[in-house]
Amino acid sequence: MGKINILPPHEAQKIAAGEVVERPASVVKELVENALDAGAQRIILSADDGGRKRIRLIDDGVGMSPEDARLAFCNHATSKLVSIDDLTQIKTYGFRGEALATISAVSRLTVRTREESSQEATELAVENGAVISEILVSGNRGTEIQVDDLFFNVPVRQKFLKRRETEWRAIEQLMTAFAGFHFDRFFSVEHNDRTVFHLPVASSLRDRLLQLWGVHFDEHLVACSGSDDLRGYAVNGFITRPSKTRYDRSGLFVFVNSRWVRNAKLTQALLSGFDNILPPDQYPFGMLMITVPPADVDVNIHPRKEEVRFAHPRIVDQMISQAVRSALEKVLVPRIESTFFVPASPVQGTNWRVEDIPQPRSVEWREQTVDEQMFTRSEQVFPEQAMGVAGSEQRLSVASDVPQPVVPAPKYRFLGQLLATYLLVEVDDGLLLIDQHAAHERILYEVFKKRLAASNVVQLVFPQIVPLTILEIELLLPHLSLFHEQGIEVEHFGENQLAVRAAPLHAKNCSFAEVIRETAAFIAEHESADKNLITECLRDKLCAIMACKSAVKAGDLLNDAEVNELLAKLLMTDHRTTCPHGRPTTWFFGRREIERFFQRHI
Ligand code: ADP
Ligand code: MG
Repeated sequence: MGKINILPPHEAQKIAAGEVVERPASVVKELVENALDAGAQRIILSADDGGRKRIRLIDDGVGMSPEDARLAFCNHATSKLVSIDDLTQIKTYGFRGEALATISAVSRLTVRTREESSQEATELAVENGAVISEILVSGNRGTEIQVDDLFFNVPVRQKFLKRRETEWRAIEQLMTAFAGFHFDRFFSVEHNDRTVFHLPVASSLRDRLLQLWGVHFDEHLVACSGSDDLRGYAVNGFITRPSKTRYDRSGLFVFVNSRWVRNAKLTQALLSGFDNILPPDQYPFGMLMITVPPADVDVNIHPRKEEVRFAHPRIVDQMISQAVRSALEKVLVPRIESTFFVPASPVQGTNWRVEDIPQPRSVEWREQTVDEQMFTRSEQVFPEQAMGVAGSEQRLSVASDVPQPVVPAPKYRFLGQLLATYLLVEVDDGLLLIDQHAAHERILYEVFKKRLAASNVVQLVFPQIVPLTILEIELLLPHLSLFHEQGIEVEHFGENQLAVRAAPLHAKNCSFAEVIRETAAFIAEHESADKNLITECLRDKLCAIMACKSAVKAGDLLNDAEVNELLAKLLMTDHRTTCPHGRPTTWFFGRREIERFFQRHI
C-alpha cells in the first residue's frame, strides 16, 4: 500500500500558515498593509490579550464588492499583481494574495466591507478557510476585519505564542513603524480597551515622531540624510542625539522602499555612524527611510517580507553610516577647520591640501601619558568631600580639614582654560582638550553609583508633576515601589501623570521627568526584566542626573588646584572618555597631527 497521501487543502493551508502568520503581530501587519493598499486614510486597530484573543482593524479604504470579498479568502487571490514580471515594479504592500486565505484558515474571522458605490455592506464569517455565512448589513465605506481566537485549530502554534505582553510589544512596535512611515494618516491603536496611540494626521515625520515618542524628543531629534546620486539611492529620516538613548535597538526603525525591514546589517550601519560617541549597550532612537531603484532590491526573499536583499549592500551601508555620522558631526563635533585660517587657494610651492587639516579624534587616555600607578586608589587619598559628593556647593574645592590628595608631579601640564569651558592640557605627545563639565560629570557619576544607597531622602518643597503617555503610565504603575526603594517618592497623580514628592538629597534639584520616562522605556524593552534589572536602570538614570546637576558647568572658572584635582580623578575614573550621556569628555591632538598641520616633516 502506498505511503503518500495528499493532504486535504485546509490541512495544507494550516501548515503553510506558519510561514506568513507566525504570531498576532503578523496578522496585524497583513491587515494594516491591506488597508493601506486600499487607500485608507484612517486606520483603527484594537487588540485583546496581545492579539491572541481578538484583533480588529477598521479602515476607510475602497472596500470590496460582495464577489471580491468572497474571493479574497481564496488562495492566491489578489487584485494587485498581474504577472511575475511585475515583481520589480511592486508599488503595493501585498502581491501574493495569500494573507487573508491563510489567516482565515487558522482563526475565526469576520469581515464587513462596503464599496463607495454600494448601498449596503457585505458581512462574511469565515472559519477554517471556508465562508460559513454571508449577510448584507449597513456599514461605512471601507473594511472592518476581526480575527478571533488565532490558532484555535492549530494547538501547537498556540502553544508557541509568547506572553500577552510580548505579543503586544511586537504589535506596538509594528504600529509605530507604520505610523511613522505614514505620518499623513490617522492611526488609533487600542489594547485591552486602553488607547495606546491616538495619532491625528501629522504634517511631517518629525511631528509624527513627537506624537509617538513624546514632545520632549524635540531637542534630541537630528535630521539625517544622504544619497548616492549615481545609483539613485537615498536615505532620509531622524536619529536622536547621544543624549537620548535606550538599552536596546528597539527604538531603531529602518525602511526600504516603504517597507519596514529588520535587517541587522542596516541597523549596524546606522549604529556605526555613532562609533566612539555612544557608550557600549546604549542605542539611539531613529527612523530612516532608504530608497533604492526597485531593480536593486529584492523584497520577495522572506515569507513575511521582513527581509530584503540588495544588489549593492556595501554601498547602502556606507551611505547610511555616512549620513548618520555627518548629521551627528553637525551637532556634536567642534569643527576645528573653522578656527584655523584656511588659505583660499593652495599656497605656492607646497602640496598643501584641505584634507591635510588635522581632524580631531576622541581617544583613550593612553597609559604612557600619565603613569596611573603613581596614584593610590584609597578612600583616604580621595575623600568623599573632595569628590564633590558632599553637596553641589562644594564643587571641586577641597575643604582644608580633609586630607589632600597626594598627587606626584604628573607628566602633564595644565596650560589654561579655554572659553571657561575647556581645559587645555599638554601631555608628552600632544594636546588634550577636555570638556570640564562632561569630565566632572563622569567622575561624579561613577562615585554616585557607588554611594547612592547612603543618600538621605528629603521632601521636595514643590512636588514635581511628570506628564506621561498612557503606555508609560501603564508600564510604570506596577513598579512604583522600586522608585521608593531608591528614595524617590512618586505616586499616580491624575490620569497620565506621576508626582514626585521626595527624592535623595543630592538629586533634590534635579528634574525627574527624564529618569521616569527612561525607566518606562527600559521596562517596555525588558518586559521579562526582573526587579533587579529595573532597579539598576533606575539607579543609573538617577546617578546621571545627580552627576549632571552637581558637576562644574561650562562657564565656571576653575583655579589650578581644582583643575589638577579634576585631571587626577578623571585618570582614575572608569569610562572616562565619555560622560554618562555619551558625549566625549576628551579630545586629543597628537604631535603628528599638529606637525602635519604646520607642514613640518611632511
Ligand atoms: P494581497 O494583499 O497580497 O493581494 P491578501 O490576501 O492580503 O492578498 O488580500 C487579498 C485581496 O483582498 C487583496 O488583493 C484586495 O483586493 C482585497 N482586500 C484585502 N483587504 C482589503 C481591504 N482592507 N480593503 C479592500 N480590499 C481588501
Ligand atoms: Mg495583503
